[in-house]
Amino acid sequence: MATKNIKQTSHLNNIAIIGAGASGLYCAILLAKSDFNVTVYEKNTKIGRKILATGNGRCNISNTDISSDCYHSINPDFTKYILDKFSYPTFKKEFEKIGFSFIEQPNGKVFPSSAQSSSVVKLLEYEAKELGIRFILDTNITNIDFEQNYFNIYYNNQKQPYDKVIISTGSYAMPKLGSSNSGYKFAQNFGHNIIEPFASLVQLETYDNTKSLSGVKINSTAQVFIDKELTTQKNGDILFTDYGISGNAILDISRDIAYALQYQQKVIVQIDILPHLSKDKLLNLLQYRLKTANNKDRYLWLESLFHTKLIKYIVDKTIDKRKKLAKDLSKKDIMSLVYNLKNFQLNIEKTKGFNTAEVVAGGVDTYEIDNKSMQSKLQKNLYFTGEVVDVDGDCGGYNLHWAFATAYICATSITK
Ligand SMILES: Cc1cc2nc3c(=O)[nH]c(=O)nc-3n(C[C@H](O)[C@H](O)[C@H](O)COP(=O)(O)OP(=O)(O)OC[C@H]3O[C@@H](n4cnc5c(N)ncnc54)[C@H](O)[C@@H]3O)c2cc1C
Repeated sequence: MATKNIKQTSHLNNIAIIGAGASGLYCAILLAKSDFNVTVYEKNTKIGRKILATGNGRCNISNTDISSDCYHSINPDFTKYILDKFSYPTFKKEFEKIGFSFIEQPNGKVFPSSAQSSSVVKLLEYEAKELGIRFILDTNITNIDFEQNYFNIYYNNQKQPYDKVIISTGSYAMPKLGSSNSGYKFAQNFGHNIIEPFASLVQLETYDNTKSLSGVKINSTAQVFIDKELTTQKNGDILFTDYGISGNAILDISRDIAYALQYQQKVIVQIDILPHLSKDKLLNLLQYRLKTANNKDRYLWLESLFHTKLIKYIVDKTIDKRKKLAKDLSKKDIMSLVYNLKNFQLNIEKTKGFNTAEVVAGGVDTYEIDNKSMQSKLQKNLYFTGEVVDVDGDCGGYNLHWAFATAYICATSITK
């Protein structure tokens, strides 16, 4: 990448950023705009690799409804100042200056108008090139330490001195995209506590065998019961897979579930297979269909009401195998069928883990970071941005917004 000569205006302007993801890139751009001499280290051969994968390639970049309620941390007060300073209107204004155009969906999700995550990387990359930011790609930083008045960055048997270091290494969600736990290790070297990381916005594996349902997608509400108590519910797409369940509604409930599973709690996800029909309406409808079923078999009389694969699964789960025809079914069978359709339950064994998670909850303890600057309270001139800190957002553009917001707070505190 081209390098423009930037004057080093003071010895404290020599800054290393570890990680060219969403937060590292944006932070570098803001600092370079104020003539700081920035070097960005990235272990991948290209910048912004995870951004490309976001929103199924469409990049759900922010949300019109940004508030602390959409974020999780053991320190819930940490996010407010940051999100007030970098609200959605501020994000929009700042990114429009870089050339972005957005589409705001009625549900609040914001995408680039192109609906292409590649546009996001292209525009940030162009801006970085124009500003002459120095990128050292294909380079894994293995250690950071502090000696007298400066930091050493270690890689490929070399070390480089810097006045300030910004750790923007993300979490280890989806390691195939470059994610690593090195940010946590660097933080620990400086005495930071790490809140135990766990996978969030992640698919769920069930004890129940769902192989025969693989590929079925419905739009409904997924309710979470933890130790028999209803704790949360989300509406959206639910996709059955050969390992369990996925889809927007499932990613939305996965954080609470992952947390509960850590403590060996019993988790059940309950799904209403026919949400558009009340219990009574469904009962009446099934009774009517049964009357006109003639010689249809135990599955065919339900055909077209819901997915064929679900018909077989639920009928076999509910009704005695010896009852081969619809006309063999009793009133009690129909009542059980209604119950299982309205309260379809899956027992959750575990999440799919870090390899497929979109986000990791936990990270660098926010009680040890100043939220007005993202500077470490334990080591002067050491900063953290993005997902490496113990803050994770809901599904809906909140995590990228967080990456950009923390980059903004960090850069504006350094440049003022
Ligand atoms: C499949 C998927 C889809 C997603 N979709 C969305 C979405 O639509 N909307 C949303 O808001 N969020 C989404 N997210 C989450 C979002 O992408 C992240 O929260 C966000 O990218 C975090 O930004 P970051 O800068 O903290 O880390 P990252 O973007 O992960 O960047 C960290 C960078 O640091 C580099 N790095 C790590 N360790 C080292 C090291 N030791 N040396 C050098 N470089 C290193 C990594 O290679 C990486 O490039 C998605 C995540 C995934 C995995």
